[in-house]
Amino acid sequence: MTTLFINIKELIQIREASIKKVSGKEMSILPTIKNAFLLIKDDKILDFGTMNNLSTKADKTIDCTGKMILPTWCDSHTHIVYAGNREQEFVDRINGLTYEEIANNGGGILNSAKKLQETSEQDLYKQSAVRLEEVMKLGTGAVEIKSGYGLTVDAELKMLRVIKKLGENYNLPIKATFLGAHAFPKEYKDDKNGYIDLIINEMLPKIAKEKLAEFIDAFCETGYFSVEDTDRILEAGKKYGLIPKVHVNQFTTIGGVQVSVKHKALSVDHLEIMNSDDINTLKGTDTMPVALPSCSYFLSIPYTPARNIINAGLPLALATDFNPGSTPSGNMNFVVATACIKMKMTPEEAINAATINGAYAMNLSDKVGSITKGKKANFIVTKEILSYGAIPYNFGSVLIDTVFINGKSI
Ligand SMILES: [Zn+2]
Repeated sequence: MTTLFINIKELIQIREASIKKVSGKEMSILPTIKNAFLLIKDDKILDFGTMNNLSTKADKTIDCTGKMILPTWCDSHTHIVYAGNREQEFVDRINGLTYEEIANNGGGILNSAKKLQETSEQDLYKQSAVRLEEVMKLGTGAVEIKSGYGLTVDAELKMLRVIKKLGENYNLPIKATFLGAHAFPKEYKDDKNGYIDLIINEMLPKIAKEKLAEFIDAFCETGYFSVEDTDRILEAGKKYGLIPKVHVNQFTTIGGVQVSVKHKALSVDHLEIMNSDDINTLKGTDTMPVALPSCSYFLSIPYTPARNIINAGLPLALATDFNPGSTPSGNMNFVVATACIKMKMTPEEAINAATINGAYAMNLSDKVGSITKGKKANFIVTKEILSYGAIPYNFGSVLIDTVFINGKSI
């Protein structure tokens, strides 16, 4: 079955298959075709070009006059499998408690872990599926999901099985990351090495056996997992073929970027606090820096210094960090807007960061992230807009008319 989209006001992010990511100055260039057509066959992009050069017919034709088409968002960092919510902590923070104080009072990640341990796999799946459907309607067409609210062998496996099941039941690419090293459970407060041993000796072999994750992550941060802990965990993950994608530099710079690069991490995520050594370490590597501006917005912490990163010639990806504690939002449209408004990224840079570079940060650049012949027909048809700059400019509005995943409207 072929479908032809005609009279597209602007077809955005057209790329050759060889382009896996864009870095530095290249990020300011967003290739487009005005007055374009797009032809898809089943779940794949078959052809595109200007309306003047259109000579083919299709089984179905959709007129897009006034509307634009761009690839779906690639959200490379989420925690959307979780149980319950943390609205009370939200109110506590409004009333003056800090994220750290809330964590010290038994809130934070440990609060989510307790709720998750008490929730059945079936319930957890149901709650998570609602969130996944919500973000798909908001234009997300590929997503990474982490474990890390289990913190016991059983509960971590439960989370990863839910992620696997979401991948089986929804037809967008879903990548799983094992984040057992998200926080230290209360019972290991004075035996941190004991918990890391549990991750390495019990969780990892089971996860590998069931093939439940492709990536491994750790919260490398003051008060959480040290650089040495992270080093041990990433090293152990490597033995099972797990590729690192690591939480670093959210609150402090302690060497998380360096240890991640040492282990050839696919991405380093957060990066709110970056010094020049961190930026220099990333130069010439294959590691994608990932910024999570909705987290900075929600916690009122600094934004990732996107200008310093891009001006240093590095690439940058944007993701939501959708999670119950620090970012209870999976809206990539808001992420793109906030990156422009607060991080001084141009609309071109932000769209590149949220599509092709996000795909790279999930090892999916060959399948999604651009309008490329042979890639998945995952794209957004916008409402009638004057320019694609409206996407960040009209922040808070969702300018999406229809989302197509595998060539089908959702
Ligand atoms: Zn995160």
